[in-house]
Amino acid sequence: MAMQNATTAARAILTSLHEIMASRSGAQAKLNHVVEVIGENLNSEVCSIYLLREGMLELFATRGLNQQAVHVTRMAVGEGLVGTIAANIETLNLAEATAHPDFAFRPETGEERFHSFAGVPIVRRERAVGVVAVQHVEPRRYEEVEIEALQTVAMVLSELIANAGLIDEDDFLGSGALSTEPQRLQGMALVKGIASGTAVFHQPRVNIEQVVADDIEAERQRVYLAFDKMREQIDRMANQAEFGVGGEHEEVLQTYKMFAYDEGWGRRINEAIDSGLTAEAAIERVQQRTRMRMRKIDDPLLADRMHDLEDLSNRLLRTVSGQLGTAASAGLKGDAILVARNLGPAELLEYDRRRLKGVILEEGSLTAHVVIVARAMGIPVIGRLRGLRGKLRDGDHLLIDGDNGVVDVRPSPTMIEAFEARFIRSRQRQAHYAAMRDVEPVSRDGHRVTVMINAGLRDDMPLLNMTGADGIGLFRTEFQFLVSATLPARERQTRLYRDVLDVAGDRPVVFRTVDIGGDKVLPYLRQDNAALEENPAMGWRALRVALERDGLLKVQARALLEAAGGRTLNVMFPMVTEPWEFDAAKAVFESQLAFLKRQKKLLPEAIRYGAMVEVPAIAEWLDVLAPRLSFLSIGTNDLTQFLFAADRGHPKLAERYDWVSPAILRFLHRVVTTVAPFGTDITVCGEMGGRRLEALALLGLGITRLSITPAAVGPIKELVSKVDLGEIRGAMAGWLKAPPENMRAVLTEWAAARAIDCD
Ligand code: PEP
Ligand code: MG
Repeated sequence: MAMQNATTAARAILTSLHEIMASRSGAQAKLNHVVEVIGENLNSEVCSIYLLREGMLELFATRGLNQQAVHVTRMAVGEGLVGTIAANIETLNLAEATAHPDFAFRPETGEERFHSFAGVPIVRRERAVGVVAVQHVEPRRYEEVEIEALQTVAMVLSELIANAGLIDEDDFLGSGALSTEPQRLQGMALVKGIASGTAVFHQPRVNIEQVVADDIEAERQRVYLAFDKMREQIDRMANQAEFGVGGEHEEVLQTYKMFAYDEGWGRRINEAIDSGLTAEAAIERVQQRTRMRMRKIDDPLLADRMHDLEDLSNRLLRTVSGQLGTAASAGLKGDAILVARNLGPAELLEYDRRRLKGVILEEGSLTAHVVIVARAMGIPVIGRLRGLRGKLRDGDHLLIDGDNGVVDVRPSPTMIEAFEARFIRSRQRQAHYAAMRDVEPVSRDGHRVTVMINAGLRDDMPLLNMTGADGIGLFRTEFQFLVSATLPARERQTRLYRDVLDVAGDRPVVFRTVDIGGDKVLPYLRQDNAALEENPAMGWRALRVALERDGLLKVQARALLEAAGGRTLNVMFPMVTEPWEFDAAKAVFESQLAFLKRQKKLLPEAIRYGAMVEVPAIAEWLDVLAPRLSFLSIGTNDLTQFLFAADRGHPKLAERYDWVSPAILRFLHRVVTTVAPFGTDITVCGEMGGRRLEALALLGLGITRLSITPAAVGPIKELVSKVDLGEIRGAMAGWLKAPPENMRAVLTEWAAARAIDCD
């Protein structure tokens, strides 16, 4: 064949296509013209275009086959060679078409004369909407360069077809005819609950508006600039605390860097531009080709890398097209399941709560803040699902089961039916727990346990009454900061705190001063060195920030003191590591109190100061610190990450260590016994307390105050009512002395023997 390379072939075709597309003829005439141009340039007797109509692939135009077959020959997706190409979104290149197992003969086409066959899917929004195929008489395979030219042409066709309205968009969006098989994905259950909705990628795919370039030089420049920008972004990410939100930063960044600086990638994109594509189309084109190649390689390591490249390619596309917003900025249309590699809590909060039904993440862990926020919102979350981009598409129907960590992609009608039955049962269970609203959590042997909720936003407040909880044991004040574009002014803080206290009435609210840093990053409050933190969880965060920037703490102290005028203020400090930090933070409050006194403002009736136990070091000081405290609150999320030296957001460590391990239980036991002589209240406010088996262990340690996620209040009340505290304490004392290898199994067995439901 007289063709030297794909670039010239594609370019020749593209130039003609450009003209055809610009011409004033009707869509059918254009298609007829297109098949001529392609056939001629690829020296093929036959060129045919099949498009999806009413769920079938219909022959829309042909050169070389019988014209009577046009709009007559129809193939189901998955049927014959054309149907196979569409179903698998893959290219076929065959020397002898009839030898292929999927070949289906259609007498009306008169194609028996032609031996070789090559076909490429026409893809739109990651779904095949048609197929362009070439055939010729000689039995020989098409050359790679010819196939590439055909693939480039298919991209242009997809634009032409969409513009001409030749395909029914409903046919391939949603759960239309082209949905591929149902698929079940197994991940890690992070937030319980089940949900149904449409997949929405947090970082949406870019819609490519123009495929054929008007000015090749200009397109080349755009790609150069985008590459520069992207490399800059990646270098910056490497220096930034928030990237990966505690995820596998290093590994991912290394791969990102490798690709971002990979010359081969840039060169291939440039070649695609040379052939006449716009920058966007060229990036997409190269990505499609890589995807097709990689699909044939069965290597999990490579698949991971591929996934990173997809991510990066999407990033480049977004940069080049200036479509930088997330799906939140576009707004959710119906019931949605958000799909992301990872998210920050602030990003999650940007979504419309009424429409957001679930979240699935490639990373994630039980105590990542985004997961904590989702749990408070009652949105099921499943994490640790690798390679989601390759497995589902925007608009796919998803059923998610946060109890078992299962995601059903494009479920079958039977699966939907089973889901609906479960949904009703889950509603009934919720109703059962809601009915326990007014039931007090009293143990079988008559001890009253205090069950409070964790909250952080005004929207959380109705949950206090809905659950019938005893108060708010942890109000994460930084959430207001996370959802604001700028530092919330004192008046706004005061207003929120006052509203919270109004709703709570007689029930206590424990306000925790801002805990920012770690995986809670405020874009408007980044300190020079914070940007360079390698270990943000152990870095410049929480009280450390507050004490250094005491302006921040002063403002918050004023806001809290004013809001609590005439009432009791409970305030606690996060990440207290040494006693002086508690003293210094308290001093800030006391000086603000003195100021308000001078101003003759209404002061709180009482102020109770507390500290969180979440840095192990402070546990060694409790005999010294306890007399200065009104209460203690154990933050098991951070405490366990520091005890185990295991990043709470690290996906690989998410399942490695157990909350009911002897190391933690013995540690907590020591805290409880050290503080006991002082009579200081101890609450557990980490996620651990909201899980029944874990809560059982805590009850066994003598802890009777829990502050938990609102959805867990019903289940925990029920647990308490079934447990004999004396009995579990006795058992726990024995286990602490001689710890069993598998504490979880032993506890589970203990609970089962007493018919105490603990899952
Ligand atoms: C904790 O660390 O356990 C805690 C309750 O605080 P946060 O999850 O906000 O860090
Ligand atoms: Mg914490």
